[in-house]
Parts: sequence; structure tokens; C-alpha cells
Amino acid sequence: MAAPQRPHIRDEMNFERPDEGKTVELAKNIWRIMPPPPSGNVYLIQDTLKTVLIDSGVYTTFDYLAEELRKLGLRPQDIDLVINTHEHFDHIGGNPYFSKTALIAAHRNAATKIELQDEYVTHMKEYGQVGDDFSVHWWLENRNLIWTGDYKLKILHTPGHTSGSICIYEPFQHFMFTGDTVVRGEILTPMLESGSAGDFVNSIERLLTMKIKVLYPGHGPESTDPDRDLTWAANAARERIREFRESQAVGGKRRIQIRAGSQEA
Ligand SMILES: [Zn+2]
Repeated sequence: MAAPQRPHIRDEMNFERPDEGKTVELAKNIWRIMPPPPSGNVYLIQDTLKTVLIDSGVYTTFDYLAEELRKLGLRPQDIDLVINTHEHFDHIGGNPYFSKTALIAAHRNAATKIELQDEYVTHMKEYGQVGDDFSVHWWLENRNLIWTGDYKLKILHTPGHTSGSICIYEPFQHFMFTGDTVVRGEILTPMLESGSAGDFVNSIERLLTMKIKVLYPGHGPESTDPDRDLTWAANAARERIREFRESQAVGGKRRIQIRAGSQEA
């Protein structure tokens, strides 16, 4: 097998933004809203039974999100359900604007960190984000199924980027919302606090067994070549594990790499 290319840790703010400032209908009743950085993508599913947001962006770009919803004829209180793909600030920051009127859902491993505002993991304050109500009303489990009308959303626990990361799969249309687990192209998102490269490889190998036509990631544009991007991500994570192992001296002091830099422990 050809050696995988060297993985690189992405710049958190430096994704492709081909539709900057544009809200794009990706499939019937499914929209991608791309608030300004540092926000992640927000996806709207305006289905026949329920109106759902996948992620809520950052707190400080809520006005942008609300305006894009207004253009689609929606008020924030029209959202029935907000599903967080994981516990990072750029995916949960808008939750307080919806938590009085919508159900907020996240995997149980993410829910505790969101509710506790576990700064070590969420990075809210680090990125200048605030907010006063981070209740999570529905603690999701692997294989939960949510019926929104024309679509069914299957929750897949995919730890790696963080411990509470999920992908959300439509088993009949074969698209998948991936949060920061997989983005388009040769970019390996970092395994941040609570994450694990080993768990990541396990999660991606499971996704590779599934029929997926398109990925809708938490940053940047969609991927219409899921097999390529999933395979690259798994190989890059394996390479990272190998590099880390080889960087450790036998019997030496353990060095834990948690971000682009490193931290002695
Ligand atoms: Zn993230």
C-alpha cells in the first residue's frame, strides 16, 4: 500500500469558503448557512414534520444566522431541534438563542461538557464567546433515529476529533453530516482535548463500510467523494499515531501532543 501523505493540522479558521455569504440549498429542504469565521457551518433541514438545525455556529455570529433564517421565512423560535455534532465552541455557541424554544441535542459525551461549559474542551472563552444557557435536553446515543418528515436522521457516535463527536446519516438518501470528523480534501482535523486518534481510525473504518454519496462537513464545502476523504483521513490519523510513537523515547518522559503545539505532562 502506498505510504499515506504526511498529515497536516489545519488552521482552525482557514477552510475553503466558496459560497461565502451565500446560503445554499444542497438537497430538497436542506440548506447550508456559512456564518463568518470562526463559526462552523450551520445546516437547516426544513422538513415537513420538524425543522432542524445541525450545529448553531458561534454566539457572536447569531445575527447573521438569524438573518439567513429570516430570508428563508423562519424565526429562531421556529426551529424545533438543534443537534450539536460535537462540543466545540464553533458548533454550540448559538445554542442559548434556541434553548428556550427548541430541543437541544448532543451525544451524551458532549452533553456534559456543553452543560458544564467545560472550557478545557469547548474553548468558548478562548475564542471570545459567551452565553448563559447551555442546557442539553436530549442526550443522544449511538443509533438513535430521528424522523423529521421526508428524512430520517441516524445518529452515529464517531469519537476521535472529540469524545462526543457524532455523524448524522440519512440512510435512504445516503448523505451524512460529519461535523469536524471529516472535512473535504486532505485535511485531518486535530484530535483535540477528549479526542483520540485511535478512536478516530475506528470511527472512520466504520463509516467506510457504509453507502455514502455526499458528506456535509462542519467547515468548508461538501464532499462528493466520501471514500477518498474518509480513506485519507484514516490513513493520516494512522500516520500521526506512528509519528507520535516514534517520537517517544523508550522509558522517557511522556510528551502529550494535544494541539498544533505540544504540552509537557
Ligand atoms: Zn471541532
